[in-house]
Amino acid sequence: MISYDVIEHGRPLQKVLKETPKPKGSEVLVRVSRSGVCLSDLHIWDGYFALGGGKKFYVKDRGCIPPFTMGHEPFGVVEALGPRAKGVKIGQKRIVFPWIGCGKCAVCKDGQDNYCLNQKFMGVYTRGAYGTHITVPDSKYLVDAAGVDEAFAATLACSGLTAYSAINKFPELGPRDWVAVLGCGGLGLVAVSILKAKGIRNVIACDIDPAKLEAARKQGAKLVLDTRAPDAAQRLAALAKGCLAAAVDFVGMPATHAVAYPALRKGGRYILCGLFGGEITLPLPPIAQRAVAVMGSYVGNPQELREVVALAKKKKLKATPVSMRQADDINAIMEDLKAGKVLGRVVLDLEKVAA
Ligand SMILES: [Zn+2]
Ligand SMILES: [Zn+2]
Repeated sequence: MISYDVIEHGRPLQKVLKETPKPKGSEVLVRVSRSGVCLSDLHIWDGYFALGGGKKFYVKDRGCIPPFTMGHEPFGVVEALGPRAKGVKIGQKRIVFPWIGCGKCAVCKDGQDNYCLNQKFMGVYTRGAYGTHITVPDSKYLVDAAGVDEAFAATLACSGLTAYSAINKFPELGPRDWVAVLGCGGLGLVAVSILKAKGIRNVIACDIDPAKLEAARKQGAKLVLDTRAPDAAQRLAALAKGCLAAAVDFVGMPATHAVAYPALRKGGRYILCGLFGGEITLPLPPIAQRAVAVMGSYVGNPQELREVVALAKKKKLKATPVSMRQADDINAIMEDLKAGKVLGRVVLDLEKVAA
């Protein structure tokens, strides 16, 4: 098999030829054909997430030490089965759920792998999908996406699932309520589409890039807001007519929090997904007085992936703009992502990869 590995943090990825693994026990070997490239891979590549005030969270502290293979949006074909693997056949195409836990603890048994404390997340703590093959511990982590465009299907494993799970955390919405999506990259665009699929029409898309706002409008956002305006928070509250019930932040920096959080109505929820980084100071009494919530959301669980895939299968989701690029171009892709030059999602084509 071939993979594109981080040999040293922040340095170009290297194409590596290694032995194709043989699945053991209940494992399933998937020949990866499509592999989404996620913004969070930039942080993993760099080796840390910024926590604000100069503080950093280093991925090496979680056992993510080079050399390793990133990639957590795999789609491919089942190539081999371990002796105890059930529920899937060789040749079947599947999305791989990458946010795998230990499989043994109470939260894993409850189907909440993403809350497990012994994470085995693919592309973070175990070998990821920037390569031709991936070993999946059990067929329960494979989701059939027949009829969905394969490149888009790959992106559902992270961006689709993350957006879906964040939206699942919204409070109950009334007819006058509005919701805001901050950051209209790959995640924000799929979120707008999921909201539409769920019948939530009062959506305000927010970004600092007019092209991304236009893309969000095409995905179905009723209103858009350029948040470069100094009074963006007041404008957001005004657009929502004082009824902003939820804001989901796919950027996650002090500036986006400063737009979304003050604009919430009483009882509203600020849901943070983005890992851009930084820190904020919040006065405590208004949190109680306004009954607002600051809530985090990180990826999602296997059931949520099946639900978002079901929406895609019913043709209810408008596919995010996806540009398919050859896996050999991975380093140019990483640089483009870093420079913010990517609209929507980049998906690696691994079908014709050769040594
Ligand atoms: Zn991701
Ligand atoms: Zn577990």
